[in-house]
Amino acid sequence: MTIYDYDAIVVGSGHNGLTTAGYLARAGLRVLVLERRPIVGGAVCTEEVIPGYKIDVGSSAHIMIHLTPVVKELELEKHGLEYIDMDPYAFYPLPDGSGSISFERNVDRTLDSIASVSPKDAEAYRKFMAYWGPLNEAIFDVFLNPPSVMGLVGKMAVAQSKVRHITSTLETVRRLFSSYGQLITETFESEAMRAALTWLAAQSGPPPDEIGAGDFFGWHSMMHTSGAKHPKGGSGMLTQAMSRSFTASGGTVVLDAAVKRILIKGNRVEGVETVDGMRYTAPIVVSNAHIQTTMLGMVGSEHLSTELAHKIRNIRVGNGFGMTVRCAADELPDYIAAPSGGKAHPSHHGLQLLSPSMDYVRRAYADYSLGLPSKDPAVIAMTFSAIDPVVAPPGKHSVFLWAQYFPYTMANGMEWVNERERVADSILEVLYRYAPNMRGKIIDRYIQTPLDLENLHGLVKGNVMHVEMSLDQMFFYRPIAELADYRTPIRGLYMTGASMHPGGGVFAASGLNTARTVLSDLRPSQRLWRGVTGRG
Ligand SMILES: Cc1cc2nc3c(=O)[nH]c(=O)nc-3n(C[C@H](O)[C@H](O)[C@H](O)COP(=O)(O)OP(=O)(O)OC[C@H]3O[C@@H](n4cnc5c(N)ncnc54)[C@H](O)[C@@H]3O)c2cc1C
Repeated sequence: MTIYDYDAIVVGSGHNGLTTAGYLARAGLRVLVLERRPIVGGAVCTEEVIPGYKIDVGSSAHIMIHLTPVVKELELEKHGLEYIDMDPYAFYPLPDGSGSISFERNVDRTLDSIASVSPKDAEAYRKFMAYWGPLNEAIFDVFLNPPSVMGLVGKMAVAQSKVRHITSTLETVRRLFSSYGQLITETFESEAMRAALTWLAAQSGPPPDEIGAGDFFGWHSMMHTSGAKHPKGGSGMLTQAMSRSFTASGGTVVLDAAVKRILIKGNRVEGVETVDGMRYTAPIVVSNAHIQTTMLGMVGSEHLSTELAHKIRNIRVGNGFGMTVRCAADELPDYIAAPSGGKAHPSHHGLQLLSPSMDYVRRAYADYSLGLPSKDPAVIAMTFSAIDPVVAPPGKHSVFLWAQYFPYTMANGMEWVNERERVADSILEVLYRYAPNMRGKIIDRYIQTPLDLENLHGLVKGNVMHVEMSLDQMFFYRPIAELADYRTPIRGLYMTGASMHPGGGVFAASGLNTARTVLSDLRPSQRLWRGVTGRG
């Protein structure tokens, strides 16, 4: 009998990798996590890249994870995680400063705020909630299970039964296959609501006119269920707590341990080898790294059929889409549309949506399609020091700007090393347009271009969702049909993470589904199922 160093090795400590590792350790497996960076977390990580400021170097707003059992089941609060509500979760200042819309967790207060701009759109939002809310609640279960055609069809039928009194099955299918730009235009009359919802829906990557992306709009009805939250001390406190929970269950984390190869004998996984030449053996390896990095790099096409290798090579990773400018600042934005004197104010609690119209987002995307950084980017500002003072020194603030769209590979021989400062200036200009007080108040800044995101996090071509979130790469097609159930053709090798169903974002559903898959594969022989929510 082969003696292995561990029962399972997880490659990568992104929040999905740590979720899988945490559940496996709780089920009694001896689990090792290997991370290439000197800190856990992948794209959910906070570091003092500007001295004295806790800067999120990946995600900031945690939304979907609260709709999963992960925070509770991994006892993350016991391990130091403390969430602060971002409420209102989004704030839309009208570009002419004449008013604003606050999207609060409380639907009625949101309706009041919308009515201040358009009473008709407040009524439209009420209808939006009545239709898309139950539909998405019913569909949500699909995300918490490995994808299957029957599962999706079954849940869709349940979903439709809940909204049958509102519209027909045919109309629901049309909406889901439609673009969010089309649906938003049909639903709202004011440019403000159209712009706000477009910019929220654009966060997963697909542009307003992409067919089959309709639910990126409808999904926002779920925001009123648990809102958006920020971990006290920064986004990375989630993965720090996950790591502590994991090690408390007997798991081991090794940092600065980039995996070079996944060891395979015959058609079975045997362990991994790091770039430093360390070998760790295990009969189960779960990779949280990008699908192409894993299968074409660590596994190697020699272990894959020609057809499978071809399909993996052709997964659409896209060409980047967003970049960030993280700022240390003397004060907070004093929005013309909601004066605050640069002091903490409800306008600073959530995502500050700086985008004047749907066409503005379309134009930003058009530049990007030509390989150019958007001349006038759409921007989300986030100001966590307003709700969590520990992230900045006393009296100072953090202002994070996420902007779209920016290509990883640029046209006309442009290179990021030459463009980054100029492009960061153009992103800041958008903030100054809405909050002129910020000009001259930026103390320092940390820029992340799509190329920087690839270098820091291993996000191929800077895609924060690993691979494009378009309909043909979702559900049982993510990342391709042959790999969608988290298993690979190599026995004992599994995939988890944003490359897999249900995709990117701070969600942990992929990590949870992978853990359940591994454990269910082990169940008949080993009965290791302990304290883990089963699939049924
Ligand atoms: C700048 C930015 C802003 C974002 N903002 C938000 C937001 O506000 N809200 C939201 O919901 N989502 C946001 N996202 C998206 C979200 O953070 C990611 O989709 C998600 O965190 C991916 O998690 P993951 O665990 O699947 O993979 P990753 O976080 O990509 O983890 C993969 C891990 O594998 C490691 N790894 C790779 N190769 C190796 C190797 N050879 N050996 C060992 N380890 C390896 C990596 O270092 C990394 O730790 C943002 C992402 C970025 C980058």
